[in-house]
Amino acid sequence: MLIKAKRTLVASHMNPDGDAVGASLAWWSYLRAAYPDMEVRVVFPNKFPDFLGWMEGADQTIAYADKKEVVQEYVKACDLIFCLDFNAINRLDALGEVLAAHSIPRVLIDHHLQPAEEFDLVFSDTLMSSTSELVYRIALALGGKSLLSKGAAEALYVGLITDTGSFGFSVNTPETFRMAADLMELGIDKDEIASKVYDSYSEKRMRLLGYCLHSKMRVFPKQKAAYISLSRKELDEFCFQPGDTEGFVNFPLSIKKVALSALFTESQDKTHIRVSLRSKGKVISVNELARKHFNGGGHFNASGGKYFDSLKNCEAYFENILKNEF
Ligand code: 5GP
Ligand code: MN
Repeated sequence: MLIKAKRTLVASHMNPDGDAVGASLAWWSYLRAAYPDMEVRVVFPNKFPDFLGWMEGADQTIAYADKKEVVQEYVKACDLIFCLDFNAINRLDALGEVLAAHSIPRVLIDHHLQPAEEFDLVFSDTLMSSTSELVYRIALALGGKSLLSKGAAEALYVGLITDTGSFGFSVNTPETFRMAADLMELGIDKDEIASKVYDSYSEKRMRLLGYCLHSKMRVFPKQKAAYISLSRKELDEFCFQPGDTEGFVNFPLSIKKVALSALFTESQDKTHIRVSLRSKGKVISVNELARKHFNGGGHFNASGGKYFDSLKNCEAYFENILKNEF
């Protein structure tokens, strides 16, 4: 199937994060090295945050929201679609409808729980730290390390550190550290990558974080929970850019007695609230919480979803869940 494919698409999820972009670019790079005659394009539903723009091939990716017709034309003549770092086509929003309109074989490469039954070939391993780790293992199994460029190794490392909080969680086997060692052997500069990923925030983003922690974080000691909610107006005041709230939801978990944290942000078109959920420990499955209450899912300790009503009602809804279930 892979060898015969002439034109392929690599697609990843809405609001692409370090793993979505890293895994997609590494897979793109690998496919181009392994199958020089194959045409490969990487498409995301919307633009990735600026701090990922330095990665090799990032400038050649397409945001569906900006170039709908280009993507629609390209997809028509595709003979294989790779779906990376998501477990259900509805995670692609409008791009998902384009893919669903064709019966092109879909290959899933992902590490989220409970993949949907809408893929033709499934590489799903929830023990993988990141989709980047899974991409690395598949690439090794298919062709060996020599086909991975330094740029691909850098992309894989970005996915690895962003999905594990720099090896703080979701590292389930020693193999993940061996992968990091292999990437160093492929020539990555890990300090430089960490700096590009973590030391590139705007002043406004830091002020927004300060505002959240000082004035917006609500803690519920009895339920060992906390949440932060941000309206569009508040986000606009701090000149919000995509990716600015990345990581905010983790901060309340630094409080000793908080084991569940939520972040609610009003969408730009105000049609819904984006929900991010995190837990620490082995008791609270935020995947279940997101599935049951927020039309979403993800991992045991990190998940997301949507709430289709006002921010105020979302807060009340969540507080009610805390009261009744925690
Ligand atoms: P984040 O809170 O960083 O947006 O997402 C945390 C995790 O949950 C990620 O692994 C992400 O892929 C997953 N996730 C986020 N939003 C959704 C959603 O709406 N549906 C599903 N199924 N998973 C989501
Ligand atoms: Mn991931």
